[in-house]
Amino acid sequence: MIRFQNVTKEYEDGVKAVDSLTIEIKEGEFFVFIGPSGCGKTTTLKMINRLIDSTRGETYIKEKNIHEYNIHELRWNIGYVLQQIALFPHMTIEENIAIVPELKKWSREKVSKRVDELLEMVGLDPETFKKRKPGELSGGQQQRIGVIRALAADPDIILMDEPFSALDPISREKLQHDIADLQKRIRKTIVFVTHDMQEALALGDRIGIMQDGRLIQADTPENLIKNPANDFVKEFIGSRGPETLPFKEKEIFIKDLTGKLEQADPAFEYTKVMDTETRLDEAIKELAVTDAIAIEQNGNPIGILTSKTIVRYLAEREGA
Ligand code: ADP
Ligand code: MG
Repeated sequence: MIRFQNVTKEYEDGVKAVDSLTIEIKEGEFFVFIGPSGCGKTTTLKMINRLIDSTRGETYIKEKNIHEYNIHELRWNIGYVLQQIALFPHMTIEENIAIVPELKKWSREKVSKRVDELLEMVGLDPETFKKRKPGELSGGQQQRIGVIRALAADPDIILMDEPFSALDPISREKLQHDIADLQKRIRKTIVFVTHDMQEALALGDRIGIMQDGRLIQADTPENLIKNPANDFVKEFIGSRGPETLPFKEKEIFIKDLTGKLEQADPAFEYTKVMDTETRLDEAIKELAVTDAIAIEQNGNPIGILTSKTIVRYLAEREGA
């Protein structure tokens, strides 16, 4: 779907913000780029919709070089969500969401239907919110509008640059649930940037770890935890790698983590349920595609298992 082939971005001052990036992001995939500040995540994202042009290498979308697309068409077919809430303050919520559909000359009726549908999709009542200005919404609600605005004209690809990092932890977790859930239903190709490993593990089908402009490892959350490519990756994941994390050999079960489980969010519908007698590596496999698993003991719900629970458990084991 999106293929970087030896892509480099070198600034005038000689800084290689991105260095020989080669990766293919698959259609319908939720791909997360993660790495410390300055490692080239934003530059990578902006090269997809050509807000930044590469200095070397080629980028393809659906096997067509991005330079062969009409630039407006390219941008309209790629949704973009920024870290700072970037809604236009003088426009209503409806007008903000409708920007790209209107550029694409959708009929008034179609636009209005789409706005209602999107607001409902993220649990905001259209009648209540449509005519409001961004300033009349909370930060979490505004960022939710930022997300659906990027979806408005039904783009194939959505780019998200640390979209939740300015939010408080509760809104942040709620939006992480929303976006994971949304992705399951609409199956867009999402390229998501974060510097938060918990967020990456919770959301990514695959995670690409970057350092100094280079992609160090791209893999599923499970494989990153089990087979980190080097010390940098290990450190980033917060573990010392497979020799200290012998999932299969030591036969760890969910029941070993019961004291660490989180409380269920009554507003969230957990679709995946596992018993405490299930092996932890089964749960890890599931967490590559689900962000939370409801755990039962003798048929009774006792808590929620997330990637965060596991990382916390492993971190403690390691210290022991
Ligand atoms: P990240 O999003 O991972 O924090 P960026 O992609 O924004 O990283 O930046 C990668 C590197 O490129 C950094 O060293 C940054 O200072 C540098 N950089 C970004 N934009 C410019 C620019 N316009 N001119 C020169 N250097 C830049
Ligand atoms: Mg950035």
